[in-house]
Amino acid sequence: MNVPFVDLKAQYLTIKDEIDRSIQDVLNESSFVGGKRVAAFETALSQLYGSRNSIGVGNGTDAIFIALKMLGIGPGDEVITSAISWISTSETITLAGAKPVFADIHPDYFTLDPDAVVSKITPRTRAIIPVHLYGQAAHVGTIAELCKQHQLRLIEDCAQAHLTEENGGKVGLFGDAATLSFYPGKNLGAYGDAGAIITNNDDLAVKMRMFANHGALKKHEHEMEGLNSRLDALQASILAVKIRYLEQWTNLRIAHAAQYTNLLQGIGDIQIPLVRNGTKHTFHLYVIRTKKRDALKKYLGEKGIQVSVHYPTALPNLPAYAYLGHTPADFPVASRYQDEILSLPMYPELSEESIVYVCDAIKQFFAKNG
Ligand SMILES: *Cc1c(COP(=O)(O)O)cnc(C)c1O
Repeated sequence: MNVPFVDLKAQYLTIKDEIDRSIQDVLNESSFVGGKRVAAFETALSQLYGSRNSIGVGNGTDAIFIALKMLGIGPGDEVITSAISWISTSETITLAGAKPVFADIHPDYFTLDPDAVVSKITPRTRAIIPVHLYGQAAHVGTIAELCKQHQLRLIEDCAQAHLTEENGGKVGLFGDAATLSFYPGKNLGAYGDAGAIITNNDDLAVKMRMFANHGALKKHEHEMEGLNSRLDALQASILAVKIRYLEQWTNLRIAHAAQYTNLLQGIGDIQIPLVRNGTKHTFHLYVIRTKKRDALKKYLGEKGIQVSVHYPTALPNLPAYAYLGHTPADFPVASRYQDEILSLPMYPELSEESIVYVCDAIKQFFAKNG
């Protein structure tokens, strides 16, 4: 048996007719950038989130950069973010001219630890970017309180957390703006690069929309310099089809996670992912921990099971941040977990038999290597 890590083709085949038709419509219209397809998807996204504004952009990385820039963050400023994330979260801080300041993760949830954040706040701190990593809500209520107390901006990185909730509210509207990625493998994925920003702040929305389109809302009326980071009509029309299935697909992810958790209880030294009380985890990734990570990964690979690591090096330990002069001891949780985490196959179309096969293989591994 072969179990891929994700299977984008399987998902496409379930909605093939609708997708093919939407692509053909765009080709017939031949309006490829902006236009009604993009507007329709932005409206659907705003409705899904209950947000006043949605702005389609080129990708999730640009989304963070645009939000930072239009919130006025730049040279001399510090922005606090999580020691474990995809590099987009921190590289955009640098790109905006500010300094990324890493804080350690919470030992139970992999997300930014609010206590670690407090110790990193200085007079130069201007913003916090919590990452709802793997689909788990990142104590964003507590972090929003901190931001209020210290007058900091709050940008939520929701790239892995479409429809994730904390205290009954979707993550994405706790701060000034939230950024989404529609990279193909994300919970809502385009067929290429795409992203969006949501916000309830209308002035900020106008600025971000302008900045993403060469500083102009109307052609040739450049109020400022900006960049070219637009959602294209093909991606928007694909996303407009797929967004209607997001809730259904999310429920399947949650059901698969429950099955994994049930079957992986008490095997070897495995730590199953915990779901924080009062939150809805949407399982972009199902991440376990074990001290035998590398050997288990190899064993599963030999059994035809594709697994992955998100991410093998915590951000402050990357060569890109050597200039900050950190040692692993500065981020004890993130530095330990980078060697223990393992992401198991997870996608809505994953079958129950596949999950049983994966869990049986893990059991066999620990029977031999326990
Ligand atoms: C995927 C991802 C991004 C960036 O999104 P792209 O669309 O790939 O640019 C940012 N942050 C996190 C946490 C991500 O997982």
